[in-house]
Amino acid sequence: MTSTPEDPQPSASTAPSVPPNAGFQAGDGRAPRPDGSRGPTRDIGAPATGGLIDVPRDVLGPVAAFDGERPPRREIIDDCVHCGFCLSTCPTYVLWGEEMDSPRGRIHLMKQGLEGEPMSASLVQHVDRCLGCMSCVTACPSGVRYDRLIEDTRGQVERRFDRTARDRALRSLIFALFPYPRRLKVLRGPLRAYQRSGLQRLVARSGLLERLAPSLATLDALAPRLRTVPPPPRLIPARGTRRAVVGVLTGCVQSAFFPDVNAATIRVLAAEGCDVIVPRAQGCCGALSVHNGRLAEAQAFARRIIDTFDRAGVDHVVVNAAGCGSSMKEYADLLPGDQRAAAFAARVRDLSEILVELGPAAVRHPLPVTVAYHDACHLAHAQGVREQPRSLLAQVPELTVREIGDPEICCGSAGVWNVLDPEPAAALGERKARTVLDTGAALLVTANPGCLMQISTAARRLGRSLPVAHTAAVLDASLRGLPPQSLLGKPGR
Ligand code: SF4
Ligand code: SF4
Repeated sequence: MTSTPEDPQPSASTAPSVPPNAGFQAGDGRAPRPDGSRGPTRDIGAPATGGLIDVPRDVLGPVAAFDGERPPRREIIDDCVHCGFCLSTCPTYVLWGEEMDSPRGRIHLMKQGLEGEPMSASLVQHVDRCLGCMSCVTACPSGVRYDRLIEDTRGQVERRFDRTARDRALRSLIFALFPYPRRLKVLRGPLRAYQRSGLQRLVARSGLLERLAPSLATLDALAPRLRTVPPPPRLIPARGTRRAVVGVLTGCVQSAFFPDVNAATIRVLAAEGCDVIVPRAQGCCGALSVHNGRLAEAQAFARRIIDTFDRAGVDHVVVNAAGCGSSMKEYADLLPGDQRAAAFAARVRDLSEILVELGPAAVRHPLPVTVAYHDACHLAHAQGVREQPRSLLAQVPELTVREIGDPEICCGSAGVWNVLDPEPAAALGERKARTVLDTGAALLVTANPGCLMQISTAARRLGRSLPVAHTAAVLDASLRGLPPQSLLGKPGR
């Protein structure tokens, strides 16, 4: 595919597999699977390995796990005191009860890698299974920066591990598509025709795609019902007195599949006194790439984003997708030595942060509806943003917020994890959907497109319809005096 102005191409074993529970006691903490069973750990909900074979590939002889280019940092690994406080918050440990699928186990594997153990298929499998949800970072009393460890380890895996042809093909497809909003937008037409023709229902009912290509079946099921929204103008002036000049990241999946969320974000910011600038040719922020170990690609995307918003001359860069915001706040770590990266990162705000910082200016109209608020992992765990969205929802008259059980457990979306590992992702999605439905709320509210798609799809699999809305859409409805039905008619599809 060729590069377009909006979609820039970025510039640029032999060891035995590690036995489950090696070195630690995990059994007592084993959680039942979503169906309540406690049998052998590999037969229910065990992940497809993303194409990895189950035995170590040892024909080429040992290959040291890590080279000198950003290996997981020893000093961070040494911060882990093996206390296990993180275990119960780790979705993969909750699913399988395997020590090596816990944060503590994965840190142990990284330590072994630093001590000369090879890059085995087993190590890669346990690293691949991590959702990168950062729940363990929040839970850890010792402040272990697991986020940095997994990012560096994934970079090593991507450069040094020879994945199977099937896995390489799937990942190539994902990374040739998802970080490129224009390419995603090209898919809208055929996807709408497919959805409206009834073919999608037919394919889903046949179960054929699920049997032949589970990753494609997952993408098919996740695709939201597409709505037509005109692209935003480049500049939207503040209503009333101007209080800030902000740039809005329109995102890749967000702009292609949820343009109404971007439109709501812009309307809310303008109503709250912001001049809103929406730079053209933003491209991807690099979140997907950095979370999957594609460092050079992520750095190229990040430099372009910095250039774009620096040129726009904004006070803040506002983000309405949790995964994108968390990556952009970490640009200084992604681009060490780049003087502009730290300054840029300091200007990044989640939508809820900037609105709380500014304080309410526009009138909130009543919105009589009960909502369940879901903490997106990359908002709550990675950015520590929990209070602000709740406080914004609390400003809406007649709106009631209910809390969801087990809020720290990921819904299984995790960027493209649900496409790479559809089976356990579906189990986590259904677990989350059940906890949302248990609240009795009429609407699920969250701040990440991946979570919206994942949870509403899981609810549908459970035979329930679950309307979903981004926080921006709820505020927008209140500011415009729209009825709750304007939100309740959107069950993700
Ligand atoms: S909570 Fe922190 S210190 Fe304790 S095992 Fe987990 S990562 Fe290690
Ligand atoms: S990031 Fe999430 S899935 Fe990965 S080890 Fe931590 S808690 Fe577990």
